[in-house]
Amino acid sequence: MEPQPNPPSDVYADVLIDSIPLAQQRPYTYRVPGAMRERVRVGSAVVVPFGPRQRVSGYVVAYPARAPEGPAREIRELLGDTVVPPALQRLFQWVADYYLCTVAQVYQMALPRGTLNGAVKEKTQLVVTLQDGLSSDLSKRQMQVVGVLTGAGGQMTLADLVRAAQTTPGLLRALEAKGAIAIASQRIWRAPELPNAALGTVLEPTAEQAEAIAAIQAGEPGEVFLLHGVTGSGKTEVYLRTIADTLARREQALVLVPEIALTPQTVARFRARFGDRIAVLHSALGEGERFDEWQRLRNGDAQVGIGARSAVFAPLSRLGLVILDEEHEGSYKQDNAPRYHARDVALQRAAFEGARVVLGSATPSVESYHRAERGDYRLLTLSCRVNERALPPVEVVDMRAELEAGHRSIFSRSLTAALHEHLGRGEQAILLINRRGYSSFVMCRSCGEPVRCPNCSVSLTYHKAGEALRCHYCDHHAAPPERCPSCKSPYIKHFGAGTQQVAEAAAALLPEARIIRLDRDTTTRKGSHQRILGAFAAGDADVLIGTQMVAKGLDLQRVSLVGVMAADASLNLPDFRAAERSFQLLTQVAGRAGRGEIPGRVIVQTYAPDHPSVRAAQAHDFAAFYGREIAEREELRYPPFQHLINVVVSAEEAGVVWKVGEALADRLLAFPELMALGPAEAPIFQLRGRYRVQVLIKTPDLAYARNALREAVRQLERPQGLRLAIDVEPHSLL
Ligand code: ADP
Ligand code: ZN
Ligand code: ZN
Repeated sequence: MEPQPNPPSDVYADVLIDSIPLAQQRPYTYRVPGAMRERVRVGSAVVVPFGPRQRVSGYVVAYPARAPEGPAREIRELLGDTVVPPALQRLFQWVADYYLCTVAQVYQMALPRGTLNGAVKEKTQLVVTLQDGLSSDLSKRQMQVVGVLTGAGGQMTLADLVRAAQTTPGLLRALEAKGAIAIASQRIWRAPELPNAALGTVLEPTAEQAEAIAAIQAGEPGEVFLLHGVTGSGKTEVYLRTIADTLARREQALVLVPEIALTPQTVARFRARFGDRIAVLHSALGEGERFDEWQRLRNGDAQVGIGARSAVFAPLSRLGLVILDEEHEGSYKQDNAPRYHARDVALQRAAFEGARVVLGSATPSVESYHRAERGDYRLLTLSCRVNERALPPVEVVDMRAELEAGHRSIFSRSLTAALHEHLGRGEQAILLINRRGYSSFVMCRSCGEPVRCPNCSVSLTYHKAGEALRCHYCDHHAAPPERCPSCKSPYIKHFGAGTQQVAEAAAALLPEARIIRLDRDTTTRKGSHQRILGAFAAGDADVLIGTQMVAKGLDLQRVSLVGVMAADASLNLPDFRAAERSFQLLTQVAGRAGRGEIPGRVIVQTYAPDHPSVRAAQAHDFAAFYGREIAEREELRYPPFQHLINVVVSAEEAGVVWKVGEALADRLLAFPELMALGPAEAPIFQLRGRYRVQVLIKTPDLAYARNALREAVRQLERPQGLRLAIDVEPHSLL
């Protein structure tokens, strides 16, 4: 967007303030002083007055269409060069257009709060350094201080020295005047703490690895590679080598991982290979740490940016390579506005900046694999594990047969025997149960009604800690009822084990074993993921029990047994990606077994042993899964054959959402090239007290559909309190 040339007297800019609470964050309009008019651009960093504060920093995010009604305050200062690199500004604009949100929303999300703030006031500290040639006229007190400083190796922060020597800054200034010490201000880099890995040994690549590395190194700017490598095939080594090559060309690399907290091992491997040249970006960092890491990338002190989803917006200006590890992961899609997918943003960014892209996975998404088949991406395959290690055999246990044989434990006979056997040999086991809490729901045996959340149309989960029924969508919790809320029957029963119950049952079955749990309830505190995974990796526990968190990226030599408690939980979700997600989850968790010298083994318990996703995962057969799935997608006109836009209309009154939903669908149907389904109840019809209906657009032409939707929404009458959530290319319809 260019500044409007008229009216000549006044030009305004919408500024997003960098350092105010999120709740207040929206753009504010300022007048651009005449002298600055030529230089202020979207993306410029500026200093403005805000409330009682005279100087706060912000970004120009747009030029308002109209002049503000009241008087506007003036921009005070332009902060040098554009702080947001031009290529990123272009990307932000693309994201706003593609995902139907405002540029301000993209800035707000992409640039962590305080990113600019630091440009105005960097964090520094005073450092005291011992000088050569001690002068002789020091007092006894001063000599003592020098002694402390010498003991510490000749350099300390002023604050530390004052504390350690029990002295005062005044005395230190006197020492400085005598030339005994020097006091200087030094920039503090608040680097995030990471597990320290031993210096990374460089591995000799296997033939398959070498081929993939060579292909990527020879890639054209903008070329995309799909690295399909089975679990344990050494994809990380391919990433490390191609990054090293990128750095050798004096270019920068960006590495995206699904969730930093769950992949400390991966980050540690990068740290071990590249040391200080790495900057880590993720949401759990403190504001100061994040600012420093951002700056180190921006000014080129760091050459490799690594982080989760939002790191796709890292300020690299010489981007040569983008790596997206576990490219199939749903966590790359943000589930609130702007609802961007980091993979699609990464592809666009690489196209803008002429960087190569590597999408890596043992279970590529159906979309990416389809593009590789079509020739849009180059497919690179790692078909075997390194060191000729075998993929683990997968046994599928039919839980219906278990019950028929009179066996009612949540552990099948096979899994029970295997746990005893493997733990007896001093090996480790992982148990996956895709539901946290104690039992998945509580149901009345007289009338069959589950106990539901009053605000959301979902059943409540029983949590043993605190003896409470909890809703996993809102914060509703209540004591378990003595009688059924519907029919007053006293016969209330728990169904479906959650992580807590599995942990309890495992403890009863294996009294000697040390058991730890990894789920959202045990990881609420910062660093708890790392502590739990670290303890398991160090051998301080024998069994790791958890939700899908345990399926991600762990590379542990002593894990020889993986058990899936109930594969069914994910198979039957009412979503077009349910089969894909189930296959991915089963394959990924199975891939945790047998990565070291000890051969692995996997046991999958299910009530649907013949489900195609279960069968394909059992046979480690991606091709079988993909062949079936792609045919079904084509028939049902789902991605990658058509694009989807899901619009969720929500309000506190059910009548209102139906009325608006119908009006929206009607308007959309006026566009001939568009298929609009609904309005229909969203899978969770009531959520946090709001009713929700959805209108689903299926289209071969996304740009056309976007324009149609913009137009339809513009015409829509929207009662107070009504919300529209637009999800372009939704990852799930749940
Ligand atoms: P993936 O990400 O494909 O599941 P990893 O990258 O975690 O696999 O590699 C699996 C294991 O194999 C790791 O412990 C890694 O150190 C090891 N490894 C990878 N490449 C080689 C190689 N060329 N030679 C020996 N070991 C390797
Ligand atoms: Zn009842
Ligand atoms: Zn609820």
